[in-house]
Amino acid sequence: MKKTYGAVAVLALLATATGCGGSTPSSANNLPVPAASAPAAAPSASGPAAASAAADSGAGWAKWGLQPLAAAPAAPADRPIKLAGSGAVPVFSEVPTKDRVVFITIDDGAEKDPRFVEMMTDLKVPVSMFLTRDIVKDDYGYFKRLQALGNHIHNHTVDHAIMSKVPAEKQHSEICDAQTALTEQYGTAPLLFRPPYGDGANTAALNTAVQQCGPRAIVLWRESMQIHDMQYQAADKKLKPGDIILAHFRGPKDLKGETMTEMFAEMLRRIHEQGFAVARLEDYIQAP
Ligand SMILES: [Zn+2]
Repeated sequence: MKKTYGAVAVLALLATATGCGGSTPSSANNLPVPAASAPAAAPSASGPAAASAAADSGAGWAKWGLQPLAAAPAAPADRPIKLAGSGAVPVFSEVPTKDRVVFITIDDGAEKDPRFVEMMTDLKVPVSMFLTRDIVKDDYGYFKRLQALGNHIHNHTVDHAIMSKVPAEKQHSEICDAQTALTEQYGTAPLLFRPPYGDGANTAALNTAVQQCGPRAIVLWRESMQIHDMQYQAADKKLKPGDIILAHFRGPKDLKGETMTEMFAEMLRRIHEQGFAVARLEDYIQAP
């Protein structure tokens, strides 16, 4: 597949972004190329979490003031996104699927609220974590508890640099050094990369650095969770099947007094009222 890398209008984005970037990323959507090789044995989504499925009950949801979300359909046998083991990496903001599912991604790692681990243990909502090394390195163990529930960890740089503002060699170290640390800590190499603020996602320099460091796709988003509601890129402000939602590990200091679990509960309410289930992103992606 021929890929092009257009100039990215990031200035407006950067001017309004907070933290990881609550605004609209450049939304190029280069669909992944089919993988030529056989599927690898990807980390199982039904690992440790499957052993304690008994807690996945209505009572668990009521404890958090929530109505249960619809159960996600079984993971597709033919995964709609197939990643190649070499060459340019695709950039995507959603998954092509007709399943009425959305995907939750949580970035950075600043807030390490034990109550959130309790919430995820109760609800078993799948999340994908894009962690920034220098933001999580004071407590890698916190995210191991979320990983133990079956959730995957991905690469979100060393120190949250604005990638298009730094030289190519710095982009390389931002991704590769985070890849090394996260692989060492979590026992598996991150498959996906997200640039802070979505910045530089469609530049050749960033794509090259990602290829050199190991992740096989660049993942952006369609919605960004704030405190009580989501920012939507779509004009109709509605979730669509396959949308990827961005949220953050944030606490009261960044959420006007609200906690991580209160923010997350609000996000689940917005998903529930639009009739979507939450599926595991990695179940829709075939690793090389
Ligand atoms: Zn971020």
